[in-house]
Amino acid sequence: MDREQKEEFFRRLLAQRRELAGDASTRTHDGFALGQDGAQDVGDAAANTAARQLLLGLGDRERRQLREIDDALERLDHDTFGFCEACGEEIGAARLQILPHTVLCVDCKAIEEQQNPR
Ligand SMILES: [Zn+2]
Repeated sequence: MDREQKEEFFRRLLAQRRELAGDASTRTHDGFALGQDGAQDVGDAAANTAARQLLLGLGDRERRQLREIDDALERLDHDTFGFCEACGEEIGAARLQILPHTVLCVDCKAIEEQQNPR
């Protein structure tokens, strides 16, 4: 991977990170606001609890994505970006274009999915 490609991925990862972090802080704010309405009736409270759980769930997923992006940025820093964590082979530019923060090549990802079906 040449320097230009790495810079391109760096920019994309940073943009993705900003998007996610921005979303997360908005959601956290909304989630907080949901619990702050003292004038709600019981039905509203139940609906708000469900909404809050949904928001917290989204928060978890976003936090995990953020960590993956941070890890990818660190790999870029250490010149290990673009290599599969499982087999050490190059992940390939085509796959990285779609998933810049992935740590597995397409083969290892397929094996992982077979072992841990969701
Ligand atoms: Zn691999």
